[in-house]
Amino acid sequence: MTSLYIHIPFCKRKCLYCDFLSFTHTECTDEYFDALVREINAFDCEKVRSIFIGGGTPSFPDSGYIGKVMEALGRYNIDKDAEITIEANPGTLTAHKLKAYRSYGINRISIGLQAWQNGLLKKLGRIHTREVFLNNYEKVIKAGFENINIDIMFSLPGQTYEMWMETLENVTDLKPAHISAYSLIVEENTPFYNMELALPDDETDRKMYHDAISFLSSKGYRQYEISNFAKEGFSSVHNCAYWQRKEYKGFGLGAASLIGDRRTKNTESIQAYIKGTSVAESEKLTKADCMAEYMFLGMRMNEGVSVSGFKKEFNEDMLIKYGSVFKKYEPFIEIENDRVRLNERGFDISNMIFCEFV
Ligand code: SF4
Repeated sequence: MTSLYIHIPFCKRKCLYCDFLSFTHTECTDEYFDALVREINAFDCEKVRSIFIGGGTPSFPDSGYIGKVMEALGRYNIDKDAEITIEANPGTLTAHKLKAYRSYGINRISIGLQAWQNGLLKKLGRIHTREVFLNNYEKVIKAGFENINIDIMFSLPGQTYEMWMETLENVTDLKPAHISAYSLIVEENTPFYNMELALPDDETDRKMYHDAISFLSSKGYRQYEISNFAKEGFSSVHNCAYWQRKEYKGFGLGAASLIGDRRTKNTESIQAYIKGTSVAESEKLTKADCMAEYMFLGMRMNEGVSVSGFKKEFNEDMLIKYGSVFKKYEPFIEIENDRVRLNERGFDISNMIFCEFV
C-alpha cells in the first residue's frame, strides 16, 4: 500500500513565519496543474492507502483544479476506506468549493486556524480573522465533513499563556476530530527572522505544551505524536504512514518520496517542473540510514517503535544496536512490552535524542 502526497504551492499571501515552498504568483496555475497530472499519469503503484493534498493552500485555487488532480488519481487502485485529506485556509473556502471536494471523494479537511485572537493572526500575517475561520468552519460542517483537523500554534510573538489556553478552549468547543498543535520555529529565510519578536520564554513554551497535552486529554483528544491529538479512531492515517516509514510518493513541486530504499525529492523550480523535470535528488538509503529513520520517525509517536518489528525489518536487535542511547537517556525513555518510546519529558528533548540515531 502506498500513500500519496500532492503539493499545491499557491497561497493568497505569504505568512510572515512561513518557510514552506509556496508563492503568491499564480499566473502559471494552469501549466502547474498540467505538469502535476503528467507526473501522476507517469507513476504506478499497487494500492493507495491515503492521499494528502497539501501546500501552500490547496483551497486557494479554483476547485476545478483539484477535480483534475483527483480525476488523474482515479487511475490508481484507491482503497475504499482511504483517507483523502485536503489542506485549507480560512478565507479561501466557499460552499461551492467544499461541495466539489466532497464530490471528488475528499473525506478529511485540515484547516489552519493557528490562533484564536485576531491580534495574533495579524502579527502572523494570516489572511483571516477568527470570524472568517468560524464562518468557514460552519461551511465545512454543512458540507458534511466529519473528519476535520484544526492546526493551532503556540510560542507565538505576543502570545500569553492565557491566550493559548483560550485558543485551546475555543477550538475544543468546536469538537473537531483532530487537533495539531505546533510550537513556532523562527526559520532563517522568513520575515520573522529579521524582526524583533516578543516570544514567550522557554519555561512558558514548555508550560504551554505540557498543559495543552493534559487539557486536550481531558477533552478526549489522545496525543499520538509529539504535535498531534485525535479523538478515538481519528489519528491521521497519512501522517502515521510517514512516521512508520511506510512507502509514500509525492507529486508536485519539492515533493519527497520514499519507495523501497530510495528517497527522492522533486525540483523546487516551478519553471523546471512545468517543463517536465520532476526528480531533483535521489538517494539510495543504506541499511544504517533506514534503521536511523525507523527510530527517529517512529519515536515521534506515543506508541514508539517495536523491537520485534525492527528485528523483522533489519534482522538486528534494537536493544543492542541502540542500547547505549537508551542508557544515556534512561529518564526520558520507556521500554516495555516490545516497545521503546519517549515519555513526556523525552518529547521536550526529542531532537537531541533523535540526533543520537543518525
Ligand atoms: S498559508 Fe501556510 S503555506 Fe501559505 S504562506 Fe501561510 S503558512 Fe505558508
